[in-house]
Amino acid sequence: MCLWKLFKQCGQIYKLTALFRVMEVDFLLIGQGIAGTALAFELSQRGKSVLIIDDQKHHSSSRVAAGLYNPITGRKMVKTWYCDALFPLIEPFYEGLEEATSAKFLFKKRIYRPFLSIEEQNEWMGKSATDLFADYVLEIFTTPQYDQKVNDPYGGILLNHSGYLAVAQMLDAFREAQLPYISHRREQFDESKLILTDEGLTYADVQARFIVYCNGLAASESKYFNFLPFHPVKGEILTTQIALDSEQIINRGVFMVPTKARTYRVGSTYSFKDIYGGISAQGKDEILEKLATLIHISPKEILAHVAGVRPATKDRRPFVGVHPSFTQVAIVNGLGAKGVSLAPYCVKQLLGQILDGHKIDPQLNITRYL
Ligand SMILES: Cc1cc2nc3c(=O)[nH]c(=O)nc-3n(C[C@H](O)[C@H](O)[C@H](O)COP(=O)(O)OP(=O)(O)OC[C@H]3O[C@@H](n4cnc5c(N)ncnc54)[C@H](O)[C@@H]3O)c2cc1C
Repeated sequence: MCLWKLFKQCGQIYKLTALFRVMEVDFLLIGQGIAGTALAFELSQRGKSVLIIDDQKHHSSSRVAAGLYNPITGRKMVKTWYCDALFPLIEPFYEGLEEATSAKFLFKKRIYRPFLSIEEQNEWMGKSATDLFADYVLEIFTTPQYDQKVNDPYGGILLNHSGYLAVAQMLDAFREAQLPYISHRREQFDESKLILTDEGLTYADVQARFIVYCNGLAASESKYFNFLPFHPVKGEILTTQIALDSEQIINRGVFMVPTKARTYRVGSTYSFKDIYGGISAQGKDEILEKLATLIHISPKEILAHVAGVRPATKDRRPFVGVHPSFTQVAIVNGLGAKGVSLAPYCVKQLLGQILDGHKIDPQLNITRYL
């Protein structure tokens, strides 16, 4: 046989064996936003192999998020939902991720919330000492703290166990770190190629025991999860320079997160209109108007303006659980406006069920929609 024919035959044999080469993993995850990253990390900590498929959309909710975690929220300043269960997990979880990736993206920062009235100040003087709040309130101020640059005539409250996660940095660091047990593929997941089997599933050349949908709002198009009531909420954020030196996050009506000297991320808006329309003049004006009620100085230059869509839900609770008919198909989603604080708890809940046989907290479990 001539040399050329031999080469051709070898090539064909190589192609044939490649066809039968399979990648075996315990878990196939769809999406590497906050949810997919947290789940993959938790799985790797438990010695499970993972393949994450993500199309790396630049404007995913996680990539634009301000990343705040804040125990006391809302106009009425109440403890955030499930605060006592979620907050003890947040910092140790992301510190573990920082250590594993040798990167810095968790910034523990106090949140300063100006009081709106003398009544509110009085109320918090009493409330802050009670068992319910003592751990979350660091200090109460009764006088202005920022040389009249901030609108805080009655002082304000300084919160503990708060800060922000530089989410985009975390996602990049996690992908680049090449951690044991974790592989990544940058591609679009196509559900029509997914085949469920007795042992688990196959997807193209991948064999896995479980698949978990961590793909944000795209899960609403999945035939397995289109029964879940998502309620997308658009949000916009500005990055701007302000002649104010603050180590703390300032937050009342609008947040100001200091990211560099005199540079702040300011936001964000909540809108149900023109959800996928991207940044808008209206969004920018709304943020600047709210900022004008929080500080007495005008921002200088606007350095960036971004928009994203939060994977929020009708009942404002996350979607965590295993599909009722297909036990190899699961979901961690619906993290809404609080992905950073919810993700560690949600992924632990899911793995508690899949790996340890515990029941998922009914408040999160997707079974509430069956
Ligand atoms: C303006 C704004 C401000 C916010 N601020 C905060 C904040 O301060 N604190 C906070 O905790 N949260 C905040 N959030 C909310 C937070 O961003 C979300 O809760 C969180 O990012 C949701 O993460 P996720 O991983 O579930 O979804 P996503 O971030 O949407 O991630 C899903 C991933 O799946 C990928 N994907 C989807 N479909 C496919 C497919 N077919 N194939 C492959 N890959 C796919 C996407 O590209 C993406 O990478 C904010 C959101 C917005 C929009």
